Amino acid sequence: MDSLPIFLNVKGRPCLIVGGGAVATRKAALILECGAILHIVAPQLSSELQTWAQAGKLNWHQELFTDTHLDGMTLVIAATNDPSVNQQISAAAQQRNIPVNVVDQPALCSFTVPSIIDRSPLVAAVSTGGAAPVLSRLLRARLETLIPASYGRLAALAASFRAQVKSRFSHPPDRRRFWEKVLSGPIAEMVFAGQENAARDALTESLKDAAFSSSGEVYLIGGGPGDPDLLTFRALRLLQQADVIVHDRLVSQAVLNLARRDATRIYVGKERNNHTVPQEGINQVLVRLAREGKRVARLKGGDPFIFGRGGEEIALLAAEGIPFQVVPGITAASGCAAYAGIPLTHRDYSQACIFVTGHTQDGSMNLNWESLVQPHQTVVFYMGLTGLAILCRELIAHGLSADTPAALIEQGTTNNQRVHIGTIASLPALMDGQKVHPPTLIIVGQVVKLHNQLAWFEPRPE
Ligand code: SAH
Repeated sequence: MDSLPIFLNVKGRPCLIVGGGAVATRKAALILECGAILHIVAPQLSSELQTWAQAGKLNWHQELFTDTHLDGMTLVIAATNDPSVNQQISAAAQQRNIPVNVVDQPALCSFTVPSIIDRSPLVAAVSTGGAAPVLSRLLRARLETLIPASYGRLAALAASFRAQVKSRFSHPPDRRRFWEKVLSGPIAEMVFAGQENAARDALTESLKDAAFSSSGEVYLIGGGPGDPDLLTFRALRLLQQADVIVHDRLVSQAVLNLARRDATRIYVGKERNNHTVPQEGINQVLVRLAREGKRVARLKGGDPFIFGRGGEEIALLAAEGIPFQVVPGITAASGCAAYAGIPLTHRDYSQACIFVTGHTQDGSMNLNWESLVQPHQTVVFYMGLTGLAILCRELIAHGLSADTPAALIEQGTTNNQRVHIGTIASLPALMDGQKVHPPTLIIVGQVVKLHNQLAWFEPRPE
C-alpha cells in the first residue's frame, strides 16, 4: 500500500477549497456534509456555491489565493484551473504539513479522496490512489448494490449498544464474537426487515445470555482447487469470521490471504507420505479449539467430501456434540476440467464420469479396473502422478484402447497451470523427464480431444 487509508474528523474544523467551479462545488458538498467549517477562496463562485454562501453555509473569500489563506486550516483542496496556482497551493500546504489534495493531479497531493459508499454511520471507501479513478468508481457501483441501504441502520443500532457491550465483555475477542453473532444473525435480519424495536429487545436479551457468544464451532470449508475466485460466498464469509484457520498443503496462498487478517493460522501439512500432523491429531485439534470457544475454519483444498477425509474430521465433532457445518468447494476435477477446456461429460463422447484415487500403496493400485475401462465415460484420477505408468498400463491391460486420449493437468486453475495431452499409451513417456509440479490431476476419455478446441484459460505465471 502506498497510502494509509484513514477517515478524518473535520466536524467543526476549518477546511479550505480554492476554486469556485463545478469541481469545487462537488468537493464543497462533500466537505459540508461532514460538518466542517468551509472556507472558499475564489474570485467567482458557481451559482450553487453562491446560494450556499448567501445562506451562510460557507465563508467566501472573494480574492486570489495567498499562502496566508492556509492559516489554521485542517485540510485544503485545490480545484482551480490554473496549474501554477495549484502547484503553489500544494507546495505551501505541504510546507506547513497541511493535508492537500489537488484535483486530478496525484503528484501534487498528500491525500486523495476515495469513492464513497455512504450508509452513515457506515462508510466504505474505495481508492486506487489516483492510479485509475474510473476503476474505483466501477467498484463503488458494485458495492452500492451489495451493501443493503439498511446497513446504516444496523450500524446505528450497534453504536447505541456499544458502551453496554463493552462493559459486558471486557476481553476484546469475546466482544468481537458477540458482535459478529449479532451482526450476521437473526438480529441483523430484524433490522433489515424494519423491525428495529424487536432487534433492540433481542440484543438486550442476548447480552444477558452467557451462552450466546461463548460456544465454539467448526466450519469444514472447501477452498476449491486454487483460484480464489472459485470460493463460494459462504466460504468467504466464514473465512472472514473464523478465529483460527486450520489448513493443509493443498490450500492456495491466494485463498488463505482471504481469511481474517488476525486469525491464527495452523498448518497441519499432508505432504505425500509425510503427514505433518496425523489425521487423528487434526481431528483432536479441531475439538480442542472449538471447546476453547473458537470459531474454527478447517480449510481444505477442493471439496471436503471428495478425497478430503472431511467425513472423518467431522465424525469426532459430531460425536462430541460440537456444532459444525460443511461448505462445499469446487473439486479439482471440476476446476481442472473447466480451466483446461475438457468437459467431463459430453453428449457425443461421455455419459458418465468416475472420480477415483490413483494413490499407490506398495507400488500397486487396488481399483476396479473393469469398471474403469467401460466405453462412453470419463475417468478422473486424483493423486495419480506417482502411479501414472501403472494406471495407464492397467487400463490398457484391461481392454481400454491404447489410443484413448488422456490429459495431465498440473496446478489446475492457478497461474501455474500446465496441461499435457497424450494418450494412455503415450502420456507416461511424455511426462518422463519433465519437471512436474503437484498437485496434478489425470483425465482419461474421449472428451480430452475437446481441449484443443475449447481451451480458453491463459495462465499468467508470476
Ligand atoms: N478434496 C480435494 C482432493 C484432495 S486429494 C478436491 O476435492 O479437489 C488431492 C489431489 O487432488 C491431488 O493429488 C490432485 O490429484 C488433486 N488436486 C487438487 N487440487 C488440484 C489442482 N489445483 N490441480 C490439479 N490437481 C489437483
